[in-house]
Amino acid sequence: MGGTGVMTEADATETLGGSEALATLHRVFGYDAFRGEQAAIIEHVVAGGDAVVLMPTGGGKSLCYQIPSLVRPGTGIVVSPLIALMQDQVDALRALGVRAGFMNSTQDFDERRVVEAEFLAGELDLLYLAPERLRLDNTLNLLSRAKISVFAIDEAHCVAQWGHDFRPDYLALSLLGERWPDVPRIALTATATRATHKEITQRLGMPTARHFEASFDRPNIQYRIVPKADPKKQLLSFLREEHAGDAGIVYCLSRNSVDKTAEFLSRNGIEAVPYHAGLDSGTRAAHQSRFLREEGLVVVATIAFGMGIDKPDVRFVAHLDLPKSVEGYYQETGRAGRDGLPSTAWMAYGLQDVVQQRKMIQGSEGDEAFRRRAAAHLDSMLALCETAQCRRSQLLAYFGQDPNTPACANCDTCLTPPETWDGTVAAQKLLSTVVRLQRERGQKFGAGQIVDILLGRKTAKVIQFDHDQLSVFGIGEELAEAEWRGVVRQMLAQGLIAVEGEYGTLVLTDASGTVLRRERDVPLRKESPKPTASRSSAPKGERKAKAAAAELPAELVPAFEALRSWRGEQAREQGVPAYVIFHDATLREIVTVWPTSVKDLGGISGVGEKKLTTYGEGVIGVLASLGGATPAAPPTDNRPAAAPVPAAAVGSDPDWPELDQEPEPEDWM
Ligand code: ADP
Ligand code: ZN
Repeated sequence: MGGTGVMTEADATETLGGSEALATLHRVFGYDAFRGEQAAIIEHVVAGGDAVVLMPTGGGKSLCYQIPSLVRPGTGIVVSPLIALMQDQVDALRALGVRAGFMNSTQDFDERRVVEAEFLAGELDLLYLAPERLRLDNTLNLLSRAKISVFAIDEAHCVAQWGHDFRPDYLALSLLGERWPDVPRIALTATATRATHKEITQRLGMPTARHFEASFDRPNIQYRIVPKADPKKQLLSFLREEHAGDAGIVYCLSRNSVDKTAEFLSRNGIEAVPYHAGLDSGTRAAHQSRFLREEGLVVVATIAFGMGIDKPDVRFVAHLDLPKSVEGYYQETGRAGRDGLPSTAWMAYGLQDVVQQRKMIQGSEGDEAFRRRAAAHLDSMLALCETAQCRRSQLLAYFGQDPNTPACANCDTCLTPPETWDGTVAAQKLLSTVVRLQRERGQKFGAGQIVDILLGRKTAKVIQFDHDQLSVFGIGEELAEAEWRGVVRQMLAQGLIAVEGEYGTLVLTDASGTVLRRERDVPLRKESPKPTASRSSAPKGERKAKAAAAELPAELVPAFEALRSWRGEQAREQGVPAYVIFHDATLREIVTVWPTSVKDLGGISGVGEKKLTTYGEGVIGVLASLGGATPAAPPTDNRPAAAPVPAAAVGSDPDWPELDQEPEPEDWM
C-alpha cells in the first residue's frame, strides 16, 4: 500500500462510490474514513473476491472482514484460534450493535444451541469459530444450511508449518474453497515474511486471491535495546521513570524468571501477574482477563501470552531475554500501542543471551535443517541488537519493505547514535587466547575464563589450570570486564567466534582467520555503561505522565480522568474491558471537542449509532457536571495520530518449549 497514510474521507468516498461500506463504517463504528488499504480490501471482498491481507497488528484488519460481513447478505464466518478471546470479541461487537456470536468448547450444549438457531434463522452478522470445530462434519453441515457472506481466516500464519504458531487444524481450511466456491475468503495475518505469505496462499488453496500488503511500520512505537546489567532493576527503573501506572507486557524466556520477575515487580509497588504454560488454565484465564479489564496491570509472560490480545492501550512491551527471531520480536513488540499513542518496545540484552540461545539451538531435538533455520533467525535478531543504524529501518528492511527508509528519530540508535570504536586488536587478542588454549593445551573454555585470562586475573580456576603461564595472560588489561563481554558478544553476533557444547565454550569460526590474519577490521559499538533512556518528542516532565493523558492540555486532564472513571464503572457493571465502551483515543477527542449535546457527540470518531444511544446521555452528563472546564473554543488539532499497528502472536511452539527453569549459569557467571 501507499505507506500508512490515512485516507481522507473524499478519497474513500470516491473509491467506494459513497457505498454501503463507508456508510456502515460511519454508522456502526463511528469512524470517518478507511485507513490505508482497508477501502480497497473491503471493496474487493464485498464484490466477491478472495484476499490475502498482510497488515501489522492494530493496522485495522478486523474491519476488513467485519464490514463485508455486514454489507453482504448472510453471516460472516470468522475462523480464529483464539478461543479465550472470542467472548471479548463478540462482546465488543455487540456493544456496537453488531449481531455476533461464537461457538467453542467453553460453551455448554444449550448455549451452543442458541447460537446455532440464531445462525440458521439468519440472525447473525458474524460467527466466530475455532478451526478444530469448523472441520467437524456437524459444523460443516450446519454451515451448509444457511447463507454465508464471507469466510475470514484470522491469524492465517497458523497454517505455516514452519512458523511458531502452526496449528494442524488450519490445514483443513482449504476445504472451504472447495465446498463454498462462491463465498469470498479473506485470510489475514500480521506475520510479515514473504515465505509465510506464500505458504498461506498455497495451503489455504487461494491461488487467485488478491494480495494486499500494508506498511509494517509502527511509528508510535519507540524501539530501544539496552545492554543487560541487572535486568530486573533496569526494568524497574524503566517502568518507574517512563511507564508508571501503564499497562504493559514483560517477556521472559523461562517460567521461573517469569514468576520471579512478577514477584519482584509486585514487591516494588508495580502491580504485576505471571502468565506461562506452567500455571493452570484457570489462573491463566484470570490473569489475562485482569489484564484486559484493569487499567495499568503488568503481565510478565513467556511467549505463551499475547496472541490476539486486542487491548488497544498496552503502553510498553519489555523483553528481559532475547527473542528467538525478528518475527517473534516484532509480533511481541507490536502488541504495544494499537491505539496509535506513543508506546515503548524495550529490551535488555547481554552476552549470556547469545550463548544461551546458541546452546539451545545446538541442543535442540530438531533436525539439522531446523537448527540451521533457528541459527539464521537468531543471527538476524543479533544483527538487530548490535546495529549502529536505525533499528526501525533495519526491521522494515528485514520484512522486505522500503530498504531506503530514512532514519526514524524514534529509536535508541537515532536518538543517541552509538559510538563505534576499532575493535580489531581486541578481537585479535581474544581469538589468540582461544587459539593458544587449544593449540598449546588442547583446552576449550567459556567466555568467563577467557576474559579472566585477558585481564590477567589470578582466580582459583586460572591457577588450577596454570593459565597465568600463558603468553596471552594479561594482554587485555586496557579494557574493563564489561567491555570484554561486549567484545565477545559482538563477535558472536558477527560470527567471528562461536560457542559450542553444553558449557558454551568459545571456538573459532571460518571467519575468525580473516581477523587473525588482519584481513578485515572489526568495528564495534561502544558499551555505554549507563544506557540513556531518552524519550523521543515528549519533554522530560511529561515522561512520567500516563501516555493516555500526556498530550492533553492540562486543563482537560480532569475531564479525561472523569470520563475514564465513568467508563470504568460502565465496564464493571457489564463485565467487559473498558476499551469495549470507548477507547482512550475517543475519550481524548471527547474532552477536546467538548460536545454539549448527544447529537454533537455522534460526530466523534469511535462513537457509532449504538454507542450513542447507549452512552450518549451518560457522557454528556459527565461533561455537564464538570461544566466549568469547558474550553471556550474547541482546540482543533489535538486528535490522536492515527497509526497502524501490529501483529498477532506467539503461541505454543512445538520445537521451542518454554524453559521450566532458569537457564543454567555460564561458567563466567
Ligand atoms: P488488527 O486486527 O489489525 O490488529 P484492529 O482491527 O484491532 O487491528 O484495529 C486496531 C485499532 O484501530 C482498533 O482500535 C480499531 O478500532 C481502530 N481502527 C481500525 N480501522 C479504523 C479506521 N478506519 N478509523 C479509525 N479507527 C480504526
Ligand atoms: Zn531509528
